[in-house]
Amino acid sequence: MESKALSDHPFNPIPAPSFANDLSGDPGARIGVGTLEGVDRRILAALNRLSLQNASDLLWHIPARYEQVLSEQSITETDAAVTGSEIITVRGEIAAVRTNRSGGKGRTEATLTDGTTTVRLIWFNAPWMARKLHPGELGVAHGKCSRYKGYLQITNAQWTPLDPTDENAPRREGRLRAIYPTTEDLSQDRIERLIAPLLLQSSALLVDWLPEWERTRQGLPTLAEAMRMIHAPTSREETLHGRRRLAYDELYLLQLAIALRRAQVRVEGSAVRIDVTPAIHAAILKRLPFSLTEDQQQATSEIARDLNSTIPMNRLLQGDVGSGKTAVAVYALLAAVASGHQGAIIAPTEILAEQHTQSLKAMLVGAPMEFALLTGSTPTGERARILAGLADGSIPLVVGTHALLGEAAVFKKLAVVIIDEQHRFGVAQRAALRSKGLARAVHVLVMTATPIPRTLAMAFFGDLDVSTIRHSPPGRQPVLTRVVGFDKSDDVYRYVRTRIDMKEQCFVVVPAVEESDMGLADVAGTVERLARTHFSGIAIGSVHGQMSAVDRDRAMEQFRSGSTRVLVATVVIEVGVDIPAASLMVVEHAERFGLAQLHQLRGRVGRGEIKSLCVFIADATTDDSIRRMEVIGQTSDGFRIAEADLSIRGSGELFGERQSGLPPFRVADLFEDGPLLELARHDATARVERSPQLSSADERLVRTAVQRQYGATLGLSDMG
Ligand code: ADP
Ligand code: MG
Repeated sequence: MESKALSDHPFNPIPAPSFANDLSGDPGARIGVGTLEGVDRRILAALNRLSLQNASDLLWHIPARYEQVLSEQSITETDAAVTGSEIITVRGEIAAVRTNRSGGKGRTEATLTDGTTTVRLIWFNAPWMARKLHPGELGVAHGKCSRYKGYLQITNAQWTPLDPTDENAPRREGRLRAIYPTTEDLSQDRIERLIAPLLLQSSALLVDWLPEWERTRQGLPTLAEAMRMIHAPTSREETLHGRRRLAYDELYLLQLAIALRRAQVRVEGSAVRIDVTPAIHAAILKRLPFSLTEDQQQATSEIARDLNSTIPMNRLLQGDVGSGKTAVAVYALLAAVASGHQGAIIAPTEILAEQHTQSLKAMLVGAPMEFALLTGSTPTGERARILAGLADGSIPLVVGTHALLGEAAVFKKLAVVIIDEQHRFGVAQRAALRSKGLARAVHVLVMTATPIPRTLAMAFFGDLDVSTIRHSPPGRQPVLTRVVGFDKSDDVYRYVRTRIDMKEQCFVVVPAVEESDMGLADVAGTVERLARTHFSGIAIGSVHGQMSAVDRDRAMEQFRSGSTRVLVATVVIEVGVDIPAASLMVVEHAERFGLAQLHQLRGRVGRGEIKSLCVFIADATTDDSIRRMEVIGQTSDGFRIAEADLSIRGSGELFGERQSGLPPFRVADLFEDGPLLELARHDATARVERSPQLSSADERLVRTAVQRQYGATLGLSDMG
């Protein structure tokens, strides 16, 4: 997994999003970098590698960090001052130059002197330095200085020769230097020299759409000031101040788009009004094999209220794994059908779709109601029959994967759509769903078992109303969790075997489908190994994503019915799979899985009466994997796990930005910028309430900016 520190590295080419060119609307976007002074072919190629295509992109090329460059000191002054390792600038004369090659690694050394004290300069793998350095030459060395055996030395210094006739050239002043993400053939100096002249004209190159009064109210600098503070700061405070403005812009724009979207869905309105009468309510509850928990009742009554309106429901149902979301979904679907309409569930995987079909089957025993399963592997003839049934209304309920979406199935009178396990269904995907006609004016319920940290929920799902199931159905036993090293594998399997012999069932989760050269456990190899060793004589099944749906179905069914007692699986069982008889889980190479994934996996057990056990066998070596193992071993609170996941991975990695279907942020960070996001959301909501079309004169620029950035992805109607 890519760590945060790595992406901060100046030489890690973080590709700037290329949409910036099309969407910014900045005048600077029309000035190609090829036309800028000093850009030759080689540099142009390097800039293109970083997706820096125009002047606006360059200004938006945000430094990865800053370096404090100290004022120039004499070598003697430095000798007195340097204790640890510091970045220094010193002036002196080259006294001697030496090169040696050992083990293929060239090393160039020079001695710099001010007549009294010397400092040693060392370069590795830079044979050309030997040609650049001349004894007797005067110059300035800049770099990280440390003390070695009592002597000062600078490794890989920047060397700037000085004109010998200008011995009194002024000393270099200290400053804060921006260090940019870059790539081969593009030096920091070059980037600085490209950006510096643009900064002087940035108010002409960029559109500053934040209205003056709003900007001053927040104490934010103008965009041009912010750019100067980011690229050429005079202090650390300035870098933060400038950054705050840029981050606010991004967050505010997205929040405006979400608020507009929400308002638009309300205005477009005219979903069918479904009245869940007391008789219908009672009839639905009678179908469920259990009585609803308080939280489930709360959720169903919120949904019933939403349905009883022509404003389409736009609700998120969040509840930890196993908290009983399916029953709530079924309630909404049956409410639609009872009022003579159609309902659909969209699941992220075929296994889940199949499982929903099972639950529906169980609940609809004896009901004269047809429902269909439509997935990528539905045979053509069957598919045609189902599509016809949906179009003429003879099939009231359908369960499907996004094959349903892709196909633009036509419904006669679709009223309710359930999207299960939504982390792939951010605001953009839902907007697409609505605009496809499939769900133009239908009631939508999105369900997630991965609780969404507040900041993410606000940022990407801010257009949703939220119902939460906090407490799981009664009788649930907490899952005993253990994290152990590889060396304990035999002990683990030996113990698990004793429990299987007492009629329990076990999931074994492995990271790979096929044998790989990375030495990871794979499905077939693990089945074979366990059959030969600890689980000899026990019926073992397996499932993974590359199996045909038929084989997978059969394997799941055999495990569900208990005819296989062990199921070796990949993460295809990660979401939603519900087999209460399975009370044991062993996860091999747990260090390979993300935190949310581990939590989801563990949620597959602890669903029955038996006290369940989940063992994570891990070889945690990186800091991140050690932290993940600590968290998963210590808590089973989905919300805390989600927060920890966000802090370990950074928001972009999580289901937030990348899966939201929206362009990523260039500056804002959802983990760090929580309070700023809150502010942006508050401001955006207030503004859209006051001015639902952003139609006043000083809103012209912001209106255009929202439209450009989010209009297409969020299906915002044209505000002109
Ligand atoms: P999830 O929220 O993860 O989708 P499910 O809907 O699959 O959870 O429910 C988990 C298990 O809890 C299922 O076996 C389901 O039958 C059971 N369950 C749900 N609600 C109740 C309830 N009110 N009382 C008892 N069992 C319930
Ligand atoms: Mg579920």
